Amino acid sequence: MIPKSLQEIQLQIKTKKLQVSDLVQQYLDRIEQSKHLNIYVEVYKEDAIQRAIELDTKIKSGDQLGALYGCIISVKDIIVQKGKHTTAASKILDGFVSPYSATALQRLIEEDAIIIGRTNCDEFGMGSANENSIYGPTKNGADPSRIPGGSSGGAAVSVQMNTCLIAIGSDTGGSVRQPAAFCGIYGLKPSYGRISRYGLIAYASSFDQIGILGHTPDDIGLILEQISGRDELDATSSHVPVENYDPTEQIPSPTVAYFPQMIDHPKLNPDIKSAIEEKIEQIQSGGGKVVPVDFQYMDFLVPTYYVLTTAEASTNLSRFDGVRYGYRATDSNTLEDMYVNTRTEGFGNEVKRRIMLGTYVLSEGYFDAYFNKAQKVRRLIKEEMESILENVDFVLLPTSTSIPWKIGELADDPVEVYLSDVFTVLANLTGLPSINIPAGTNTDGIPLGIQIISKKYSENKLLSFSKRLYYSQKK
Ligand code: GLN
Repeated sequence: MIPKSLQEIQLQIKTKKLQVSDLVQQYLDRIEQSKHLNIYVEVYKEDAIQRAIELDTKIKSGDQLGALYGCIISVKDIIVQKGKHTTAASKILDGFVSPYSATALQRLIEEDAIIIGRTNCDEFGMGSANENSIYGPTKNGADPSRIPGGSSGGAAVSVQMNTCLIAIGSDTGGSVRQPAAFCGIYGLKPSYGRISRYGLIAYASSFDQIGILGHTPDDIGLILEQISGRDELDATSSHVPVENYDPTEQIPSPTVAYFPQMIDHPKLNPDIKSAIEEKIEQIQSGGGKVVPVDFQYMDFLVPTYYVLTTAEASTNLSRFDGVRYGYRATDSNTLEDMYVNTRTEGFGNEVKRRIMLGTYVLSEGYFDAYFNKAQKVRRLIKEEMESILENVDFVLLPTSTSIPWKIGELADDPVEVYLSDVFTVLANLTGLPSINIPAGTNTDGIPLGIQIISKKYSENKLLSFSKRLYYSQKK
């Protein structure tokens, strides 16, 4: 049995009960056994074994080790690593090999973590089911007829199936938290600017954040501490000092808000609703205060998110023109033909839909009516959340409206899928940190999740509270 905690793994390595090479081999075996779930698009078998052997030699000779030795990590196929293919699950990046590494990955590697492979996802992070991938859908380990969530679906299942300890994903509107909920694990989207986005292929730059999926808040804290902090290569990365993310902070009597509009949402799955109600009772019986708060902008969340993210996506994705990266269509007569053919053949349907929507809301005649208006609404939502968080420590809400649906069930209904993002986009619209906490399963064994949002840069408080909530539930 591979331990599901870095502290335990490192203890076993230190006491010579475990070698890093054995650990890597065990994970590789598990990857092999879970192949039918389509988790990885590439496994770095030789690299991982080689790095493990080097690390074992270092351990034997008593050399100083990085903070993350023994931590085996999967990376979403949207974060680049030097010398490795990265495709964002798109045909348009077919054959692209990155000349540099993302800052977050660089920092992990420098601390002796080992990257075991890259995981499947929705094309350019656009989706909630991991079905918009050139590699086909990833399946949920709890029930392979169901989706794992998205867009970081492969990332979530890689942890769920114990094929690695930690997965690195990205979250623009819920892509770390929602699959974490669907797979019964923790998933953190840090504050905007906490982790450098350098090397994360851009979807919507003012929303995108690298996120961390794991079995425990402790492990997530250890990773966050290493990868967050100012990076000169990303001007939006924050100067706020990195904390010691050790989720043992005492929060004696937290005040927690919930929004009745969300709990009474007509589409909310009743099991998720009960999980939230249970948490409310649990917080109260533990000495916390839970207060209903009126949130005015519920109906504006999804429209604002989709106007702004498609606008940003349409400009970010203009760089994929067949000249600079990856795939190029053959048999074009003119340069313009080549652009058109490359983009027609290279992008999938969902990506095309969003480029069209984004181009539309940015076009001269509609800019004020849609894009500008959405920017203003975003500011109102942000101010509302900041003012709520002046009076409370946390906001408690569902992660998703539903449990993971059947593969193919919503394939022809993109709007229904967009609407299911209503609870997660809030944290990205406002730049606030947010986490999914596993909340048991329904009677069919399908995982349920709940979400907590806290003040900007209060990740340690968020992780500490998550840990406490989870463990008190287990009793
Ligand atoms: N499901 C959302 C979308 O499709 C979120 C995606 C994400 O966070 N990358 O935009």
